[in-house]
Amino acid sequence: MDDLPGLVVTGASGRMGQTLIRLAGSSDKLRLVGCVERAGHLWIGRDVGECMGGPALGVKVTDDPLEAFAKAQAVVDFTSPAATVEFAALAAQARAVHVIGTTGLEPDHLAKIEAASRHAVIVRAGNMSLGVNLLVRLTQKVAQALDADWDVEIVEAHHRMKVDAPSGTALMLGQAAADGRGVTLDEAKVSGRDGITGARERGTIGFSAIRGGDIVGEHDVIFAGEGERIVLRHLATDRAIFARGALKAAVWGQGRKPGQYDMMDVLGI
Ligand code: NAD
Repeated sequence: MDDLPGLVVTGASGRMGQTLIRLAGSSDKLRLVGCVERAGHLWIGRDVGECMGGPALGVKVTDDPLEAFAKAQAVVDFTSPAATVEFAALAAQARAVHVIGTTGLEPDHLAKIEAASRHAVIVRAGNMSLGVNLLVRLTQKVAQALDADWDVEIVEAHHRMKVDAPSGTALMLGQAAADGRGVTLDEAKVSGRDGITGARERGTIGFSAIRGGDIVGEHDVIFAGEGERIVLRHLATDRAIFARGALKAAVWGQGRKPGQYDMMDVLGI
């Protein structure tokens, strides 16, 4: 057991953090060696298993990422963009594989992550599930097969606590549609329509976001033509799908060359 790669989970008390810790407990490929939360959090200094209402796991929650990462071979990170950028530099320093699930990353965050990936393995994906990564591939293929007479609309739904929109997954799907069409997403993207918007512009890729309740994540990619419509849909009902993908990426990244990878690399699709 002791020779398994050591795993640190950041954002330990979060929805994804707790799911990861539960799954890591039954993994035969990784062992949990550390948990990080933000300074001042109620869980700091306490055993993470007890914080989650279960038996002690022998791992205390810390607000010192540097200390935690020093004993890790993998850091799995579903937190916030600012925290993720800080963790990318520290994980690279510790030569630990950094798996990034955090979404809402802006270009300046991405540049810092890119810099960290010169020294360490980073696996980053706006969605870590097998189903969504397949949906991305399908979206690209369908967009490639159809011309701009087919309007592309991406509709996503998430729980009421989600802070960014469109979701990271919706953007991945939009990027796939743009790639299939041979256009850039920045130019084709239209989101948050409201008021007198005018008729739909040919060739654009539209985004709509629904927020409510405890919805884990739903994505429709609609290709709307004259007299017919294709809808590609993924429904996530359990966030364990993201956590399983992230842990798989943490194992896959061991011993790889430094650089940035995504779930397509991990899943080989
Ligand atoms: P959450 O709010 O439940 O959890 C985030 C946790 O990060 C919180 O516990 C918070 O205290 C902690 N945190 C914030 N700053 C920190 C810091 N500096 N140091 C340590 N901990 C810090 O959110 P969530 O639903 O678990 O989602 C987290 C992120 O993951 C979001 O960006 C979300 O969109 C993304 N997400 C991605 C996928 C995927 O497959 N890529 C799936 C689900 C969620």
